[in-house]
Amino acid sequence: MASTQWHERAASINMDGRAFIGGERVWSKSEQQFDNFSPIDGRKLGAVARCGAADVDAAVASARAAFEDRRWAGKSPAQRKRTLIKFADLILAHAEELALLETLDMGKPIKYSLSVDVPAAANCIRWYGEAVDKIYDEIAPTADNSLALITREPVGVVAAIVPWNYPMIMAAWKIAPALAAGNSVILKPSEKSPLTALRLAEIAIEAGLPPGVFNVVPGYGHEAGAALALHMDVDCIGFTGSTKVGKQILQMAGQSNLKRAWTELGGKSANIVCADCPDLDAAVSAAIGSIYFNQGESCNAPSRLFVEASIKDAFLEKAMAMMPRFQPGDPLDEATIMGAIVDATQMKTVMGYIEQGKQAGARLLFGGAAARAETGGFYVAPTLFDQVDSSMSIASEEIFGPVLSVLSFTDIKDAVRQANGTPYGLQAAVWTRDMTKAIQTARALRAGTVHVNQYDGDDITVPFGGYKQSGNGRDKSLHAFDKYTELKTTWIQIG
Ligand code: NAD
Repeated sequence: MASTQWHERAASINMDGRAFIGGERVWSKSEQQFDNFSPIDGRKLGAVARCGAADVDAAVASARAAFEDRRWAGKSPAQRKRTLIKFADLILAHAEELALLETLDMGKPIKYSLSVDVPAAANCIRWYGEAVDKIYDEIAPTADNSLALITREPVGVVAAIVPWNYPMIMAAWKIAPALAAGNSVILKPSEKSPLTALRLAEIAIEAGLPPGVFNVVPGYGHEAGAALALHMDVDCIGFTGSTKVGKQILQMAGQSNLKRAWTELGGKSANIVCADCPDLDAAVSAAIGSIYFNQGESCNAPSRLFVEASIKDAFLEKAMAMMPRFQPGDPLDEATIMGAIVDATQMKTVMGYIEQGKQAGARLLFGGAAARAETGGFYVAPTLFDQVDSSMSIASEEIFGPVLSVLSFTDIKDAVRQANGTPYGLQAAVWTRDMTKAIQTARALRAGTVHVNQYDGDDITVPFGGYKQSGNGRDKSLHAFDKYTELKTTWIQIG
């Protein structure tokens, strides 16, 4: 579709910012709202319900009632499967509307909202729906006179608190396994990107999910989010966001009812390219493509690039040739591959780090400035720093923007030591044609995922999550069910 058509649709879009509780759209009990602005041009999209503790109480009560009367948990796995597959189908049927909301709300290019975010969210919901009637429980190998059944049961009321960088995908990674397992869910989207979550709740009802099973409470983290994390009747919290808030979530779980708390947190992923890399063009393309994808606002972005000194010049020459492609453009133009930063605050953070990089003596090779200021939106040019060292903040802290720091190495062991030298451990990569070196390096890297000779390999079948302060537990794959189920042992005396 031409960008003019997307703009026309954007101008007439029907945005409903009310919460979704008990199967109905409602304003917050306090009647408070907050304004939602688009980062693509600063336009006001509308007002959103500012949910607080009273609304969270209502959502939890609704979720609890739904769980207790087993209107969803009591359905057979095959019945839950049918509803979730219908939910996924309807998401795809609403693809253009959801993609437009996602782009307007958080600034990513419409090309990717359409081709990545919507299909990935639908696929995730379909996959857990399809999985749930294929999982068997266990019988333990106990003595002859007993039968010990080990069964999985839903945890109960699950709160999902998610960030703004992939609003629909992050929501799907939580709600799909939680709903498939039979839980009731309360989703708290980021205050920066609440729109698609609210539409997903309506679409779920259309698919046949009983009211009360899936509630959405938009609002601020310290209000709606904290109320969920502190709630005495929430059994489990699935959190994705910053390491700073992840620590608070764990504390709040401990302060309240010791709810199960799962965290998917920040990253500062290291991408190590050795001189014997099998395909330098592929390595450059993956390094550059992955860091600037989604405006650099990806938890697993390979933001630290370690290049072996003997190939660094050749690597950077190829990298520089790619950089202009990532100049930000109009997110509603399907040719655009880099869009707007989510808001003024995040842009200020990114620009602050760029300034720190310059001050610390890193060599700015490309970008380093704001862009498209005339639009009223928030854009940062793709930025490339060379001659970075691990002590600089641009190499040690998560920036969450389109900034790549290049470091060089001569000894792979030293590169691994530096790669492991941050509090994070989300992802890492190594490029080498020497499989022994690849495997040894992959084993030595303290990260939830290590890529070899590629970056961003991705599939719903593989777990996603971090070591160290990148969090605990795993999203995606069958392992996600571990977070949203309890294991029950039933001992039966048989003689
Ligand atoms: P954030 O931690 O500021 O917010 C995340 C969510 O938590 C939001 O919904 C927010 O409203 C809520 N929140 C904030 N304060 C809260 C509080 N006191 N109590 C309860 N909830 C609260 O993170 P963000 O800026 O939205 O997202 C960016 C971060 O998310 C980055 O660090 C990124 O790496 C991380 N992230 C991690 C993964 C992963 O899978 N590991 C995926 C995506 C993003």
